[in-house]
Amino acid sequence: MSEVRHNWTKEEILEIYNRPLMDLLYEAATVHRKQHDPNVVQVSTLLSIKTGGCSEDCGYCPQAARYHTDIEGNDLMTVSQVKAQALRAKEGGSSRVCMGAAWRNVKDGPEFDQVLDMVRTINKLDMEVCCTLGMVTENQAQRLAEAGLYAYNHNLDSSEEYYKEVISTRGYQDRLDTIDNVRKTNVTVCSGGIIGMGENVEDRAGMLVALSTLNPQPESTPINALVAVEGTPLEEEKPVEIWDMVRMVATTRIVLPETQVRLSAGRTQMSREGQAMCFFAGANSIFAGDKLLTTPNPDVNEDMKMFELLGLKPQKPFTKKVQPQTVEAEESQYQALGEKPKWSRPGHTIERNEAAKAKGKLIK
Ligand code: SF4
Repeated sequence: MSEVRHNWTKEEILEIYNRPLMDLLYEAATVHRKQHDPNVVQVSTLLSIKTGGCSEDCGYCPQAARYHTDIEGNDLMTVSQVKAQALRAKEGGSSRVCMGAAWRNVKDGPEFDQVLDMVRTINKLDMEVCCTLGMVTENQAQRLAEAGLYAYNHNLDSSEEYYKEVISTRGYQDRLDTIDNVRKTNVTVCSGGIIGMGENVEDRAGMLVALSTLNPQPESTPINALVAVEGTPLEEEKPVEIWDMVRMVATTRIVLPETQVRLSAGRTQMSREGQAMCFFAGANSIFAGDKLLTTPNPDVNEDMKMFELLGLKPQKPFTKKVQPQTVEAEESQYQALGEKPKWSRPGHTIERNEAAKAKGKLIK
């Protein structure tokens, strides 16, 4: 069973997630081997090109301005800084660079133009370029596509129901609309979520229903284990058990058979044996580099040692899709429209977010 289906139900996904582990692993590995080379893993590097000071209230995020955390905020990096880091990532074996900016949504203007230049620059290094910049309109997605963007990341985070317990400043439908805007271009979609935020297994299955019923399914799905950062509303959540991570990866592999499933945040808490089990269960992408935006991540050398030990090879760039063409800014068909899109702001009260905000105010 490895055909792509867009009609998965929560009950079917729960039945898969809760199978005896050996049966679950066997089936996930079987699906994985039909669709992918089990000994090849994509290595991506995540760069935080603009850190902190974000207006949103995502309960897991140390970059939200309203919480008091130890992270150091930074303005938008320059194109040459980004190029230097991308070259270093390439030397370290990365085939993809993902640039993250702590923005609610993209705004037309000089900063977005600078990001478009970064996309052109990295594409010309023959690396896959991904961006995660918040919500985007169709025109902005088209401009990114023209610059040579390979993928756009916009996570669903959790099920629609549990999302409301974590974020009050933007709605689930806005997330889906952004993914839809990206889909209207030739940019691939990267979308996944986080486990360990206090959600239940039904919520994990609910998120997989939302991802698997997208048509086409995302080309890439990060599965993050919450890294509970002091000062955020979720600071007291317990670390995710490796068994939960393995079950989540395996279930994701079965319902998203063609997708690159990425082990993302939380890898520092996982042993090599745990990660090996995730690769067996169908994970075929990791983030490299000692930081994931602002939280710790294993060192590149450690990862390369693990690859050697497990006989894994890093995936070459553009294995799944040809390199997008880069159009220079002056030849662009799509100009800034100066749009003011009405992304929603549900504004319901989440007690623990309010408490973390109040604590943050006291400390500041
Ligand atoms: S996850 Fe993104 S949108 Fe949410 S607070 Fe952090 S940087 Fe802002």
